Amino acid sequence: MLKIGLTGGIGSGKSTIAKVFNLVYDIPIFEADKQAKQIMNTNLELIEEIIKTFGKESYKNKTLNTKYLSQIVFNNPQQLEKLNNLVHAKVRHAFAKWVDEQNTAYVIQEAAILVESGAYKHMNKIISVSAPQQLRIDRVIKRDKMTTEQVLQRMTKQLSDVERNKHADFVIVNDDTTGIIDQITAIHTKLIEH
Ligand code: ADP
Repeated sequence: MLKIGLTGGIGSGKSTIAKVFNLVYDIPIFEADKQAKQIMNTNLELIEEIIKTFGKESYKNKTLNTKYLSQIVFNNPQQLEKLNNLVHAKVRHAFAKWVDEQNTAYVIQEAAILVESGAYKHMNKIISVSAPQQLRIDRVIKRDKMTTEQVLQRMTKQLSDVERNKHADFVIVNDDTTGIIDQITAIHTKLIEH
């Protein structure tokens, strides 16, 4: 079974593209970002490691104190790397276990920072979703009620499309002009021929 990484910057439409793979071709999707959040609130070993590394305030009423943690990691790349390393080790385990339960020609792991986290190295192929920056900003403002500045701040923490696409075997252009179904079908056909 092939493991396919699907990535893209905020607002590129990667969740939308993953949904289409699932709806049209029944491909199982592992949502890494959602899983990471869940694991941070449920995996005792990880909770202990986070508290040991970042302090007791990391959890408030037995729930991850995201405000506190983001303050620590936001402008500190070393701290962010520490946190990512702790979390991604657990996500990698959860993904491996999930893969064993699937029964399709390929599965997709969807993750915003697939390249940045190094998770891409464990995938057989990478799909990158690309869209013009202004369109991405407009989508996120509409979806999350964020300001342009807030979206831009998030974007500066992620790789640019150009950098991300360097790691990709397939690039899907999701710019509201180029049809996505044909692009997805072409990739699906190649993946099942593999
Ligand atoms: P990401 O997961 O990359 O942050 P999403 O898939 O959530 O992006 O897309 C961002 C927003 O743009 C969502 O509200 C989504 O519905 C919308 N969107 C993305 N791609 C398309 C598309 N091809 N057609 C219509 N709406 C789209």
